Amino acid sequence: MAWMSSGRTNAELVDNMMANGLITSTRVAEAMRNVDRMNYVPDKSYAYEDSPQGIGYGATISAPHMHAHACENLLPSLPQGTSRPGSILDVGSGSGYLTAVFHHLSPQSLIVGIDHLQPLVDQSISNLHKDGIELGKQADGSGVIMICGDGRHGSAENGPFTVIHVGAAAPTIPEALVQQLARPGRMFIPVGEASQDIWQIDKSETGEVTQNRLFGVRYVPLTDPDKQWREKI
Ligand code: SAH
Repeated sequence: MAWMSSGRTNAELVDNMMANGLITSTRVAEAMRNVDRMNYVPDKSYAYEDSPQGIGYGATISAPHMHAHACENLLPSLPQGTSRPGSILDVGSGSGYLTAVFHHLSPQSLIVGIDHLQPLVDQSISNLHKDGIELGKQADGSGVIMICGDGRHGSAENGPFTVIHVGAAAPTIPEALVQQLARPGRMFIPVGEASQDIWQIDKSETGEVTQNRLFGVRYVPLTDPDKQWREKI
């Protein structure tokens, strides 16, 4: 059903995902309407297709319905409305698209995007600018920052995180990310190599961790920079 959700405009793509039951929350729909996928893809003629697209350096922007699934799953844990601000970590931020959606879903929070290839981080910063998002941490602690580093280690200085999204498949769940989950907190992470599944990791207010396997997926691996991409000489 996924391809049926493609649209001619960003709004139509979101409307079609709602009509097909891929988005059920109006808050997720609203946030995805606010982020124009055109600003995050290299091939503009496929901007509103419900399919992944290569963004260079061995990375892909995920299909819109996968972004929608991640947001819907994480929504109950996202600081919103009058709740206290939190920190959100987007590991393997790639194009920056989902980092932007998290910003619209929780404008009072600090959203930290982390990717291990500097050219991708630079590209995501330029995409976010095109999409009208100003980068930097504000005086009240909110904002969007994009950093270059190994996402398997998280970002201890910006944690703990109410929500962690991982956009690349890890062979096993990185322990540092579980440690950096806030109490309470939720992580959405693809796990596996030949066969991969999304796992939902919840940490309770008392620090108890539970793991639930959700559904099968296909993501690029959470790996080392030189295994992902080698500059041609
Ligand atoms: N959510 C992104 C997904 C990009 S693809 C989007 O939709 O645009 C997965 C990303 O994970 C790639 O950008 C890749 O560079 C990054 N990645 C892979 N291994 C990583 C690691 N160890 N640390 C940080 N980022 C990593």
